[in-house]
Amino acid sequence: MISEGQTIDTLLQEIKQLRQELAEANSIVEAIKHGEIDALLISNKLNDQDKLSDQVYILKGADHIYRVLVEEMQEGCATISSNGIILLCNKNFADIVKTPLEQVIGSSIFNFLTPRDGAVFTNFISIHHGSIKTECSLKTGDEFCAPVILSAVNITVEGVNLICAVVTDLTTQRRSERFVQMIFNQVREPIIACDRHGRIIKANPAAFTMFGGELAGNHFDTAIPLFCEFGGTEFRLNQIINSDSNYDIEVQYKRQDGKVLNLIINASHFNMDEDANSMGYIITLKDITEKRLFTKELSRLDRLNLIGEMAAGIGHEVRNPMTTVRGYLQMFQLKKKYADDHEQFHIMIEELDRANSIITEFLSLAKNKRVELKPGNLNGTIHALFPLLQADAMRLGYKIQTDIGDIPVICYDDKEIRQLILNLVRNAMEAMKLGGAVSIKTYADNDEIILAVQDTGTGIPKHIMDKLGTPFMTTKDGGTGLGLSVCYRIAERHGAKIDVKTSSEGTTFFIKFKAMIAICTTHYV
Ligand code: ADP
Ligand code: MG
Repeated sequence: MISEGQTIDTLLQEIKQLRQELAEANSIVEAIKHGEIDALLISNKLNDQDKLSDQVYILKGADHIYRVLVEEMQEGCATISSNGIILLCNKNFADIVKTPLEQVIGSSIFNFLTPRDGAVFTNFISIHHGSIKTECSLKTGDEFCAPVILSAVNITVEGVNLICAVVTDLTTQRRSERFVQMIFNQVREPIIACDRHGRIIKANPAAFTMFGGELAGNHFDTAIPLFCEFGGTEFRLNQIINSDSNYDIEVQYKRQDGKVLNLIINASHFNMDEDANSMGYIITLKDITEKRLFTKELSRLDRLNLIGEMAAGIGHEVRNPMTTVRGYLQMFQLKKKYADDHEQFHIMIEELDRANSIITEFLSLAKNKRVELKPGNLNGTIHALFPLLQADAMRLGYKIQTDIGDIPVICYDDKEIRQLILNLVRNAMEAMKLGGAVSIKTYADNDEIILAVQDTGTGIPKHIMDKLGTPFMTTKDGGTGLGLSVCYRIAERHGAKIDVKTSSEGTTFFIKFKAMIAICTTHYV
């Protein structure tokens, strides 16, 4: 049947065209049968208004092994057309971008790339050959980004340009990197990584805080000048690197503000890869300055305790017979038959009194001495004591002054603090040349109340600084070496701390009381 308007010629033309289309369809079917095609991209026009849109049809039964490999591999994998349409991808790829697989296939790869990474990818596609490996971020369905390594290769299949991309998710790796970085940043001890020559590669914030300055890029020994604790010789990194021992080495570092820190230094090897160039050292340092002071203080107290116990034990026993002897001496002194020996009796009594006052001092070292802590203002005690101190100073040719600050009430034993001030002022005067000046100062500093006794004396000899407060340690001919021990003991009973600053210009003793000693009672310390 020939319909209207059709001629033999048009029909022949139509038959020819249909044959051509049939041949084309047959060749596609053949290609599908041979597994040469995984998916078909067909341009559809849904209705007259619609533009042409690409529709992807995935074919089952293509190369099975290849499919299994792609499906099972740990990386995300996608085949992308030259205009960026994802023709095929595995489940891992969909998981990385946190989008259902059906939605990923057929969508544009540019939906998942940031503008910057998109531009890199566009550039790569336009070259039509070669491969690319780049670190980028893939936008995910939950509006976050997944850090990935994107490896892509341009391939041409039967004249059609395609891109095969493999995506390695770095999220877990980045998380553990961040975790390690966090530890590195937050640890309070300085950690410094050096290369095998000792040049600093990396230092954590604690190292910058302790040593300041430019660390990275400089040699450890120049960036961080350390000293061996004894003798003050310079410490070299080699000393610890070359030592086989696992013992910690103690070094000293002089901070910019002049404070000397005691540090424990430790170094361990690391090797990033197996070659010698990637070898280096991790150096850790630990500040033990406070611990050292604490230990020193403890041993000082230990010594005091021992002496204190002895004092309590024998003090009274010695004093009682002395009182008897003194009584008899006084009695004999008045007798006529000893009138010629009056002077000798006087000396004997004076010597006994001196011995007695030493015993009194010694007794105040006793650990279980009774103290009465009562609320009061230290300024009141200083005020009451001052005329006595001033008279003494004038008599001996020194100046004395007070510098009273506004300080709150604390709990203390008035008699004991008087003793402490007397001992410190006496030492101050004994250390000064005539005309020297002593100053007694009080002030509040944060949560501490400070009583400072400053002199313009010769300073405390260096060799006794560590032993300060040890009973019977004196550099004076007629000294007892008990004055400072008593001061340390009194401070201890008041929960106070003694700090000393000394130089050839003079010495200052700081007695640091805590702002409020909560319980004010009579107690034994
Ligand atoms: P003493 O005064 O009997 O020697 P101390 O215990 O009071 O005993 O003092 C111990 C030592 O500490 C003194 O011999 C002195 O060397 C030193 N010392 C104490 N205070 C000062 C000071 N203000 N200036 C210099 N040296 C001091
Ligand atoms: Mg003294």
